[in-house]
Amino acid sequence: MKAAVLYERRAPMVVEEVELKPPVAGEVRVRIMAAGVCHSDYHHWNSEYGSILPLVLGHEVAGVVDAVGDGVAKVRPGDRVVLAFGHRCGECFYCLKGEPYLCAPPADAPLLKRFPRIWKGDRGINSFLAVGAFAQYTIVPATNVIPLPEDVPFEVGALVGCAVATGFGAVVNAAKVQPGSTVLVMGCGGVGLNVIQAAALVGAARIIAVDIRDNKLKYAEQFGATHCINASHEDVVSRVRALTGGFGADYAFEVISHPKTIEHAYESLRKGGVAVVVGMAPVGAMLTLDPLAMMRTSRVIMGTAYGNIRPAVDFPRMLELYRAGKLKLKELVSRRFGLTEINDAFRALDAGEVARGLVVFD
Ligand SMILES: [Zn+2]
Ligand SMILES: [Zn+2]
Repeated sequence: MKAAVLYERRAPMVVEEVELKPPVAGEVRVRIMAAGVCHSDYHHWNSEYGSILPLVLGHEVAGVVDAVGDGVAKVRPGDRVVLAFGHRCGECFYCLKGEPYLCAPPADAPLLKRFPRIWKGDRGINSFLAVGAFAQYTIVPATNVIPLPEDVPFEVGALVGCAVATGFGAVVNAAKVQPGSTVLVMGCGGVGLNVIQAAALVGAARIIAVDIRDNKLKYAEQFGATHCINASHEDVVSRVRALTGGFGADYAFEVISHPKTIEHAYESLRKGGVAVVVGMAPVGAMLTLDPLAMMRTSRVIMGTAYGNIRPAVDFPRMLELYRAGKLKLKELVSRRFGLTEINDAFRALDAGEVARGLVVFD
């Protein structure tokens, strides 16, 4: 198959012929139809987050089941599916607790030993977040495969796998935003726009979107923002105070991944407000918060990994909300790229040109 392989960080990925090992018991091979280009891919292309090269990036995918290993009854070849990324061992403390987004399999767990699956001669190539979607095919455990209804386009399905799941889950599962709230959203990329539309969906009264690019703030308005702040020339904390009669926001979502914006999100809260760290901050970044003020104001700061989602439960409900016209997902797709244009897709993401760019396959 063809795959885009990252051999050196910050260097162009190489689109080349590689070998994918066949699925074993409990696994599904999927022909990829659409794969979103996410900031997490970009971060691993750009910086050291612990992923090991060479690597096939991409983790936001929909496709068609191509082959199944022994014991897989859930799907058959030809079925349309959305993929969840990462591991869900089903046996660790967190999986048993119903928090599979925190899955911590033991180091000798079989699901970790199944890699590398992609080979170039005698050199193994890693699969990002146990997916590796910038390729024609991938192999995942059947537990990470969720059926995609016939009437939902592959592009929409792919977005459900990360951008929608992370943003929707941050609002609905992690923060549990209440109707009538004031919600601040810092960063209006693919995930941030889904935080905005999920906040609108659950009945937030005011949604204040923050970005440094006016085109992103235009997107934010289309997805339900009631107020916009351009942080390149406006002070976020004082604007939020002014918009809320001096109180501050009930919830503040940081979807940028910078310590300063996390601090600004926290400082923009009312007493008892909740700040949610959704973005992927640089390794080693630290926050400066006033713990005395934290105690006196009963403010909360929390993180959320992958929107605290349980794919088997949450993917179908996001897909149903899309089918009911309550989540705008087609509108997120702003540009399509062929696999050979993968490096241009990363450039467009970094330049802030797209709500979501997608790699599409014939
Ligand atoms: Zn992602
Ligand atoms: Zn687990």
